[in-house]
This record gives sequence, C-alpha cells and structure tokens, in this order.
Amino acid sequence: MKTIVMKFGGSLVASPQGMRRVADLVMRSKQEGYEVVAVVSALGQGTDLLLRAAQEAVAHDAKKMDVAVHELKLIHSSVIEQTTVGSGEKRALNHATGLALEELKRTLIGVSALGELSPRSKDLILSFGERLSAPILAAEIRERGVSALSLTGGEAGIVTDSSFGEAALDSAATTRAVRKSLLPRLAAGQVPVVGGFIARSKEGEVTTLGRGGSDYTATLLGAALKADEVWIWTDVDGILSADPRIVKGSSPVMHLSYPEAEELAFFGAKNMHPLALGPARTNHVPVRIKNGFRPDFPGTLINDQMMRSEGIIKAVAVVRNVGLLTVAGETLQGRPGMAAKVFSALAAAGVNILMISQSVSEANIGMIVKRGHLRTSERALRHELKKEGIAVTLESDSRVAVVAAVGAGMRGEKGVAAKVFGTVAAAGINVRMIAQGSSEMNISFVVDEGDADEAVRALHRHAVRPGARKSRA
Ligand code: ADP
Ligand code: ASP
Ligand code: MG
Repeated sequence: MKTIVMKFGGSLVASPQGMRRVADLVMRSKQEGYEVVAVVSALGQGTDLLLRAAQEAVAHDAKKMDVAVHELKLIHSSVIEQTTVGSGEKRALNHATGLALEELKRTLIGVSALGELSPRSKDLILSFGERLSAPILAAEIRERGVSALSLTGGEAGIVTDSSFGEAALDSAATTRAVRKSLLPRLAAGQVPVVGGFIARSKEGEVTTLGRGGSDYTATLLGAALKADEVWIWTDVDGILSADPRIVKGSSPVMHLSYPEAEELAFFGAKNMHPLALGPARTNHVPVRIKNGFRPDFPGTLINDQMMRSEGIIKAVAVVRNVGLLTVAGETLQGRPGMAAKVFSALAAAGVNILMISQSVSEANIGMIVKRGHLRTSERALRHELKKEGIAVTLESDSRVAVVAAVGAGMRGEKGVAAKVFGTVAAAGINVRMIAQGSSEMNISFVVDEGDADEAVRALHRHAVRPGARKSRA
C-alpha cells in the first residue's frame, strides 16, 4: 500500500468550508487506496495571533492579551460550529479547546508576571495553534467514516534539541519514534492527523521548527516513514516563477530538482520552509506542491531529476529582513587567514552568514546577515579585530534585500549573468553585491530594499524563460 504525507497550510483551514475541503482531500486519497498521514497548520493567522497575545503579555497589557485570546476562541468555535461532525463531537471539541485556551492563558499570565518572553515560553505559546487545529481536522475526517486521531508533533515522535524558536531535528531519534508511533496506526487503516510545526525536545519540552515549519514536519515524517510522496497543499498552483504579490503574471513551475527547490526556499519563495526539502532529498521522497482549491491541477513536482526544459532561470525570489556588512581595509590584503578571522568572530557571536563576497583585491569582504544580527555582528567584529590589532572600517546597511534567480540550466550556460545584470541595469537598479554559488544554480545579488520588487519584476519579464509560463496549459 502506498503512503502519502499531506500537509495543509493555514490558508486552507482558515474557514469552516476550508476545513471540510481539506477533509475531503484526505478522503479522496484514502478512496484511491493510499495510506494518508495528514499534517495541519494552525487555522489561518492563528500563529500570528498567538504571537500578538504573547507580546501583549510582556507589555503587561492584560486587556489586549485577553482580546487576542478571545479572538482565537471565536475563530475556533466558529470553525467547530460549522463542521459536519455530530453534536457530541462538537461539544467535546469545544470543551478541549476551552481547556487548552485556559492553559494558554495561564502561560500568558506567567509571561506577563515575569515581564519576559523567553524563547522557551514563546514556543510553548505558539504551539497552541497546531494543538487546536489538529483535533478539529481529525473529527472532520472521522465524520467521513474513516478512523482518524490527532497527535502533536511530540506525540508523533518528532524529537529536537532545545534550541527554542528553531529547534534542530534529531533525525535518528525521530525516525525511530515516528515509525513506532505512526506505522501501527497506518497499518490499522487510521489517518494520523499531526499538528505541524511543533516538536518535543529530548527533555520533553515543547519546541518549534521555526515559522512555516509545518512543511518541514511533513517532509520529515515522509522521510521517516519512507512515504511514496509528500504533498504540500497550499492556496496557489505550486511554486510560482515569482511571488504573486510582486509579479502579477507569475505562473507555476511544473518541475524542480531538490537543489533548485532548496535554493528557492532559502531565497524566499514563501510557500516552502527552507529546511523542508532536506529530508525529502536525502530519502528520495518526491514532493508535490498543490493547490487545495484546484486539486486536479498537478502543481509543482520536486524530485531527483534535473530538467532544463522549463528554461534557464525558472524562478526569481527575494529575501528581505537582511543587512549588508562590509569590512574594508588594507590590513585585509595579502594576509592569509584574515577572512577566517572575520568569519570565526561572527560564528562565535552566533551569527549565520547568508552570503559572502570578496573582491580579488581583497580590500573588502561583504556579508549578508539577518537584519536582526547586524548590530551583534558589528559589535563582535569590532571587538575581535581590535583585540588582534587589525585595523578595518566597518560599514553596515540594514535597508537591503537579496534577489535570487534560480534554475539548473544556468550550469555551464554562457551569458546568463550578463542577461541577469543587463536586465537589472536596464531597469536602473544599482547592484551592491553579487554571489553565485558553486552549484551554478543560483545567481544572487544585493540591492537597496526599495529596488527589490522592481528587480524581481524586471528579471521575471526579461530573464525567466517563457517555458515556465507555457507549462500551465
Ligand atoms: P501556507 O499557509 O499554505 O503554508 P504560505 O502563506 O506559507 O502558505 O505560503 C503560500 C503563499 O506564499 C502564497 O499564497 C503566495 O502568495 C506566497 N508566495 C511567495 N512566493 C511564492 C512563490 N515563489 N511561489 C508560490 N507562492 C509564493
Ligand atoms: N503555524 C506555523 C506558522 O504560522 C507553522 C506553519 O504554518 O507552517 O508559522
Ligand atoms: Mg507556510
């Protein structure tokens, strides 16, 4: 029997109709003879609302905190009310939701009393979104005559370290525990409905996999279970050639290899968590991104194959919330180990460098870091380099964005960079820094934040090959 892990994004379960549609999608595959594991996100903007409640709690605004919790209650009770489940199940769901929200409130009151939102408490608070959504979907599936039960990520067997906020997966422990937890249930014909995004540390505390983490939940379950496919159901036709909110005419890319999709996920294609493709790639599990509103459309297929058929540049993406840090000085020139000193100072400060470029003259090193890390980076570099007696000038700019053009066809193809930068120059946009990975699947460059959308539009218009666009037919 074939197994599919299906993930349903928050956008698909934001309304009662959405919840019913999702249960129907599960049933469709069950009726076609598949074993199905469902992974569900928090309802709609549930996670944002929880974050708001947490922030109001730290700010000691009890009234606004209560309003946020009340909003959550209304969203859930309205979905529960309009499910197709019987009155007994509805009462049970409402009761469980009420209890969970009381627990949430106690946690918020604790945070408010301390006046501090630790990453640990934040994960606990954010976990309530998926803790509340999964039981509703499980009930809706049961109503359709199939046994289903809801599980948290921890109950499903997902084990992480304790780096709250973006915990790292313990892959071996997870594989063992997931198989132990889910295989007997699947063998019994049940549909496990797993709350996405949340997991459990080895010490038993609630952790999360980072925002948008339900995609990752789906692929890591798919890998652990050796599923035949993972389907990520969302509200657009697949991975699109550009963010549809920036480019009106963007269209689905029908096929991507794992590394291409990974580049896009890292470089801001919002509908895929950056780490999600790793487990699928390692275990050769194909991933499909599908539109829950158009289930018959094939969507984007991601697998091992490298295809150039859809054009050299398949998609353009943009990363915001980053900052540019430039280290310059004659002391950097001709002295081995200088770059290493810079990078280790940042590593010691816990800063992850997203992009690096150094000129041949070695007179400066440009780096892109998360915007929130810019200050820490500057401080760490000043301190460390001064300690070593290395004189440099440091410059930082927080108003930049990285634009990336992605496609496997770039490899070995002449003139792609010329086309990309010619297009950007023709649009009157200044490029601040350039990097091309050795995989030659991605050309990324830094522009002023205000120019990012226009750069994406210009590239999409002139450099994304029409193959991607034609593929929709
Ligand atoms: P979900 O709730 O299903 O997890 P997300 O909100 O995380 O959905 O992601 C889906 C949204 O991502 C789409 O509605 C779309 O507006 C946006 N998006 C941005 N860039 C892309 C892209 N390159 N391809 C597809 N969607 C994108
Ligand atoms: N609910 C979480 C978030 O909004 C995880 C997810 O939806 O994937 O980030
Ligand atoms: Mg998402």
